Amino acid sequence: MVKILDGKKVRDERKAKLTELVSLFNDTPTLVILQVGSRADSTAYIEQKKKFGAEIGVAVEVRQFPEDVQESDLIDAIEEANKDTSTHGIIVQLPLPDRLDTSSVIEAIEPNKDVDGLTAVNVKKLQAGDGSGFTPATAKGIGSLLDAYDIDLAGKRVVVVGRSALVGKPTASVMLVRDATVTIAHSKTTDLAQVTRQADVLIVATGRPKLIGAEHVREGQTVIDVGINLNTGESLEEEIALQTGSGKKFIGDVDFEAVEGIVSAISPVPGGVGPMTVLSLFENCIKAYQKQVEER
Ligand code: NDP
Repeated sequence: MVKILDGKKVRDERKAKLTELVSLFNDTPTLVILQVGSRADSTAYIEQKKKFGAEIGVAVEVRQFPEDVQESDLIDAIEEANKDTSTHGIIVQLPLPDRLDTSSVIEAIEPNKDVDGLTAVNVKKLQAGDGSGFTPATAKGIGSLLDAYDIDLAGKRVVVVGRSALVGKPTASVMLVRDATVTIAHSKTTDLAQVTRQADVLIVATGRPKLIGAEHVREGQTVIDVGINLNTGESLEEEIALQTGSGKKFIGDVDFEAVEGIVSAISPVPGGVGPMTVLSLFENCIKAYQKQVEER
């Protein structure tokens, strides 16, 4: 029987501990989120963060900017939050509109408040295995989920499918720091199935619904499905399942039904990496708060 890596359960266990920890603090840890425009998916992610923050006692303040905001105004707002001692973490909700230079905006964040771990300082620290920085939440959450199920990584072959700065690359760095032998695959990889079958731990972050099927896996593997894709009901079966309420609104990058009878362990979508990502972001915020209090 395949083992389900239940991110929701792990998150809830850790959430109770975080809530207790935060209740001992003198001030309220505060996360500022800057949102440009009003993309529905970004707003939904922000709502999730606000809800989780409220549940554990971390304040989440959202600063909205119009779609046509000047880059300099956005950077001014970041610099103001950098200076504000009552702000402990800063996030720019991505993606930004194309006309803005994401990397200049991100680099404006003070590395000690960069709880998304995207500034060059924090990327470098992660690559160097220096734990004083911040690891991007999804990558950190994947590591924590594997730990929670005692899945050892040292010496294991890990294949990460996807090489984005937000997910694929930092996840590969986390695995490398944990002494795994890491391969990164992407859209130009030839014979993907041959590569993914080599893995002891296969991590998939492509945004391509059900990209990974039975031919990509083998017995004994652990599969981490990072993808969150809206199920558009393209096949007749999916459409019927959605209409009758038995189908899932969100589906992963892995065809769960096709691989569950083959692999040893798998993280489901929803309920796998997603909850661990939110948890990890707030673990980063609390770490930022503690560091800033210590440095004062
Ligand atoms: P990006 O679109 O930035 O990156 C996708 C990556 O997948 C690219 O590196 C791309 O390769 C690769 N890829 C695309 N198609 C294929 C293919 N056919 N074969 C192999 N590789 C392919 O996406 P993100 O990294 O931001 O997100 C990936 C997924 O994870 C999305 O579904 C997103 O919604 C989800 N996500 C989930 C989170 C969670 O908490 N669970 C958090 C963040 C994201 P190339 O570089 O060559 O173009």
